[in-house]
Amino acid sequence: MKSISAYNIVNTDSGIRAFLMKETKHKRHTKPGRTRTRRRKTHSKSAKTNDDDGWLRITIRGAPYERGVSHGKQVIAADPERFTYMFTVYDFLFKQGYGRDIEFFYGLCDDFYRPVIKKRFPKIFKEMEGIAAGAGIRVCQVILINVYMSLPYFYAHLLRYIDTPKYRKKYADVIRDELAIVADPNALSARNARLNEFKDRCSLVMAVGEDWTKDGGIVCGHSSFTDFLDAQFSNVILRIEPEEGDGCAMVMQSAPGGVWSMTDFFVTSAGIIGSETTIRGFNAFKLRDPICCRIRECMQYGKTLEEYAERLQKRNSGDYACSWMFGDTRNRGGGGGPRIMRVELGLNYVNVETTRNGVFIGFNSTYDERIRNIECTDALSSKAATGATGAGAIDAGGSGWRDVSSSIGNRRVQLEKLTEKYHGRIDTDVMKRILADHYDNHLGKTAPNTRTVCKHGYTDGGEGGATIPYKPVGAYDTKIADSASAKRMSFLAHWGPPCGTPFSVKEHMKKHPEWKDWAEYLVDFPRRGWINV
Ligand SMILES: [Zn+2]
Repeated sequence: MKSISAYNIVNTDSGIRAFLMKETKHKRHTKPGRTRTRRRKTHSKSAKTNDDDGWLRITIRGAPYERGVSHGKQVIAADPERFTYMFTVYDFLFKQGYGRDIEFFYGLCDDFYRPVIKKRFPKIFKEMEGIAAGAGIRVCQVILINVYMSLPYFYAHLLRYIDTPKYRKKYADVIRDELAIVADPNALSARNARLNEFKDRCSLVMAVGEDWTKDGGIVCGHSSFTDFLDAQFSNVILRIEPEEGDGCAMVMQSAPGGVWSMTDFFVTSAGIIGSETTIRGFNAFKLRDPICCRIRECMQYGKTLEEYAERLQKRNSGDYACSWMFGDTRNRGGGGGPRIMRVELGLNYVNVETTRNGVFIGFNSTYDERIRNIECTDALSSKAATGATGAGAIDAGGSGWRDVSSSIGNRRVQLEKLTEKYHGRIDTDVMKRILADHYDNHLGKTAPNTRTVCKHGYTDGGEGGATIPYKPVGAYDTKIADSASAKRMSFLAHWGPPCGTPFSVKEHMKKHPEWKDWAEYLVDFPRRGWINV
């Protein structure tokens, strides 16, 4: 499908406004061989995007293996170096976060994820094998892409799985290192704070009903956050049309090689819109079915909200624990109208709520006190780690839930305020405004920073709550679906910060040379338009 219109978001004195523009064509910001920053010659930092405002569209159909092959080939056709470059960046990230290289993680994928995916999800495994064949890469590499979000959770509990008769010899060095870290509370706290940084990943709003949305239908908006190293790969719009009789078609934001969304934004031919925000500080884990397979089966086979909630809980691993939100845009039995569901999915605790007239917000924590206080380890939050005052503070802190100086606390308060302010008027334009919000309740002023709904970590020297000053991290996309777009299996998508503020690698490195080892792998986020997926 072609992009039929483009929107720009502009900053004005009265705040941020979105307006409709006539379609404009944007040049790709980088071209192979012409990137603006130093890079290795073997890498191509930008996939060819068919001029889709930064996105790469991939449509695959047919049987699992066949559609996988097509997926791999389409990525390679757009950019022959895309996967090579992606694994180089992942390797760099793994070394920065864990001190271990990507080969170690391929090994974990082969030992611990390959058997469960192959046995429990044979069709998904076939699709992964197809992607590997189509792209000319290894199956363990495709598995790694798809369990990338699960790895920090698994890694925090690694000893339980490698210090066993089967693996004790193979992983002897890792066991030695992990035992040393676990024995030292300071080392454990520092390492877990690094793993935990990964879990603070997005802002989300889903609303329905006459008191909340303009037309009473569902409106859902989501913006992803992460460091700009792995962010750059989430620019794939993946449309999957399984063969006749094998479930629903689906369209989602994804990454090259993905069999699920990962950032999580999708619509399906069952009329369901789905998204989530991760739960920061979550630390309950049991290696069972990975989230990539559980949510993919929801998308492909789920016809009702209840089926989604059920499938997510079946053989749940606690990996990538999220506050999931699903909207059923169809009128089902009884003429009740569209309905939305929030599933706060812990490991042993799950909180499910539904409404036909209400709003759910996502800010990387839960309303459920059991998940927040039992399954989220307060000490794991880097924010809480520096401000911990003992067990008595758990309910007051709870991974920043009530603390407006934290990203979670500020975004909870601000999203509650904004949805209240716009109640009864929420539509796609209002959603753009909400997700581009820069109000800091701790400072009492507008200040784009780490704690704002539209997150800007890279401009934050610490006054906005950044634990690491000027880290190239922040909000890098916006996706918005409503009942009408879901019926067309479509949504609006914008690549780059929700407010439209450009990010330039060159400019950033001039001001903050402490990040210059990242420059080789970073890409610019220039101002871009919206596409209709
Ligand atoms: Zn912004």
